Amino acid sequence: MRDFDPAAVAFARGHFIGGEVVDHASERIEVSRPSDGQPYADLPIASAEIVDRAVVGAAEAVKRSGWATQPPRARAKAIRRWADLIEERGEELGRLEALGSTRPIAQAVTGDVAGTAEGIRFFAEYADKLGGEVAATRSDHFGMIVSEPYGVVGAITPWNFPLSMASWKIGPALAAGNAIVLKPSELTPFSTVRLAELAIEAGIPAGIINIVQGSGAITGDALSRHPGIGKLSFTGSTRTGIAIMTAAAQSGIRPVTLELGGKSPQLVFADADLDKAADCIAGSLLANAGQACVAGSRLIVQRPVHDALVEALTRRLVRTAPGPTWQSSTSFAPIISELQARRIDGIVARSTQQGAEILLGGGRIEGLGGAFYQPTLIGGVTSDNAAVREEIFGPVLTIQSFETEEEGFALADHPEYGLAAGVYTADLGRALRAVRRIKAGTVWINRYSRTLDFILPTGGYKSSGIGKDLGRQAVEANLRHKTVLIDIGA
Ligand code: NAD
Repeated sequence: MRDFDPAAVAFARGHFIGGEVVDHASERIEVSRPSDGQPYADLPIASAEIVDRAVVGAAEAVKRSGWATQPPRARAKAIRRWADLIEERGEELGRLEALGSTRPIAQAVTGDVAGTAEGIRFFAEYADKLGGEVAATRSDHFGMIVSEPYGVVGAITPWNFPLSMASWKIGPALAAGNAIVLKPSELTPFSTVRLAELAIEAGIPAGIINIVQGSGAITGDALSRHPGIGKLSFTGSTRTGIAIMTAAAQSGIRPVTLELGGKSPQLVFADADLDKAADCIAGSLLANAGQACVAGSRLIVQRPVHDALVEALTRRLVRTAPGPTWQSSTSFAPIISELQARRIDGIVARSTQQGAEILLGGGRIEGLGGAFYQPTLIGGVTSDNAAVREEIFGPVLTIQSFETEEEGFALADHPEYGLAAGVYTADLGRALRAVRRIKAGTVWINRYSRTLDFILPTGGYKSSGIGKDLGRQAVEANLRHKTVLIDIGA
């Protein structure tokens, strides 16, 4: 992977509606590069009228193109071709992702873009394998369950993995025969438009994928309330999830998938392979500088191995390579914005005021232009400490210790969130007891990462969300089911 010049990256700056980049003179948002905080483009805010144009146009495109009614194999073929194109343009897309987001170029190309192509390919394979069911239930009638797409689905995505998050929404929606109107985060808006442009090149009809740009309060709210949206899918914070679910319910009942925040525990027992556990925990904290929904941000460690594990973690966490995302040697990401970095500062300050002790880091990495935060370990905390309770979305790990298995399980359970958990132990029975006890959508045993195994769905318990992304479940969520009963006169 080569370094690149951020000023030389070309991209389209508008919405993508009906197969074209469109813009209009209206309110705009200034967009900055996280790596150095420099503004580099501005973005139109889609008003309710523009959102309406996109949704109505998408419904017309489904009818005009026969997207839902053509032989499903043709749909699968077009989506597969799109995945191939994304792969072919990997460097170009990776540069655009690295320019505007926190993803370092090497990870953007080999992780985000490659994963986006693979994910879309995974969903393409479903397009011609979806069928209803037939049940001859009684002698006098014949029953069928018919699966139907919603027509137009709406999606709203966060800034932390812009391309991957878009592909997780668009892939299953299209495979099921829907069109989509997606609003990316206003902090990272441009790579998603390029993704949609490539879909046209791949033969996906104009109007099937639409991108509307803008703020949550104006564009996101208009999309959540639009009566032409059959189903809504959101990834972002729990606070916004509540607003979106409320807006959707107020404007007509329809399903809402919510992938929300987390405060995931890393539960380490004394019999665990400590080196492996330290690799996994440090890896999770350093990935995107902790700006990941599944970041394992609460270490809960059995007392006899507390000191050894903290030492092993410290050794790994001091070896970071922060830098601009356009440098191929960078592996440690900037914080998305100065505002978010101040949020992290604020939570760490409240945590220490409540008696916490900083064991490592605890402040900014200076001199790099953008906002960078040191990998941070916080000890001496109880479950009511701010850093233990609140989602920080930065490279900050709190540490609590326990004696008995039961105490460990109790500490792992967060009162609000239940997105993921890591459990490290050599005892299979204990690992399975943990799986039963921990209320989370994903439990990793002796590892901590989501591999690109798209068949495994992801989603949260409690305030971490409703429904699943990825897997067959994500495709099913983009279909509704109609029961047909035919009198056969017997
Ligand atoms: P956010 O909630 O601030 O914004 C997410 C999106 O919602 C953006 O596009 C934003 O413009 C939009 N939005 C904001 N207010 C809105 C409103 N009132 N109506 C409609 N749309 C609105 O989240 P963020 O800061 O972009 O992302 C970080 C959050 O996302 C974290 O909480 C993280 O845990 C979560 N996340 C969850 C998953 C998951 O799979 N569970 C994955 C990635 C990120």
